[in-house]
Amino acid sequence: MARRLDTRDHRRELDENRYVYAVVSRRARGLSIGVNLNLDKACNFDCPYCQVDRTTPGPAAPVDVPGLAAELADLLLRAGGDLWARPPFDTVAPDMRRVADIAFAGDGEPTAPAAFPAAARAAREARDRLAPGVPRRLLTNATLFHKDRVRGALADFDDLWCKLDAGTEDYFHLVDGTRLPFRRILDNLLLVARARPIVVQSLFPAIDGAGPDDTEVAAGVERLREIVAQGGRIDHVQVYTVARSPSDPRCAALDRGRLEAIADAARGAGLAAAVYA
Ligand code: SF4
Repeated sequence: MARRLDTRDHRRELDENRYVYAVVSRRARGLSIGVNLNLDKACNFDCPYCQVDRTTPGPAAPVDVPGLAAELADLLLRAGGDLWARPPFDTVAPDMRRVADIAFAGDGEPTAPAAFPAAARAAREARDRLAPGVPRRLLTNATLFHKDRVRGALADFDDLWCKLDAGTEDYFHLVDGTRLPFRRILDNLLLVARARPIVVQSLFPAIDGAGPDDTEVAAGVERLREIVAQGGRIDHVQVYTVARSPSDPRCAALDRGRLEAIADAARGAGLAAAVYA
């Protein structure tokens, strides 16, 4: 569930981190702290628009939860002090020198590793101790919500940002590069949205120059409408497109006008929707 934020920081101190990174997000108006549990870059999707470089393998090892907790605590402490005195953070506007969120969003699906619940708990404890009030976010493709160990850990997050890029089985397989059944995603979204509001993140790339057609967009809106009709709560829909170089050269950014039209279609179904491009 690769994250689409601004520049990932490459200062040497943070590059020594294995799990915790930081980006300055203009949209979040502050420092967005990312947690990457997927050092091996494994994902159960293979989205052609993915920005993770899988041409080189990542290390395969269980998540070191105490190590992750130490990295997070260190960064949270520094965000309250000397972090802003050194490049590149010294160039950040004073009103953005704040921790905006802590987000599980890595080089694969964050709920997949066995350590996900323990990592979520460790992040909650660090947040409560060092950054109370900072929202904890999970960016997920929702493929594993049917598993008790995953659903049980969702309580450690304030916001669930769930990927839904398609309205039909065929387009789902094309845009998310998986053979997993589309029905499972829809059932999982409903399962969780009945318990608490979710944010839906929908990425629309241009593939070979074309985005989803009107029929596909209408089907996607219909899937959202069905979730709501069955008692699910959708806080809002984020409509966005490719921001940086995707893994598949056939993919490119969809134009802003089309994204706005897709957001309008969601609004037509009574949903709040915003375009991020
Ligand atoms: S869900 Fe898609 S975009 Fe996210 S890491 Fe997996 S392949 Fe990449």
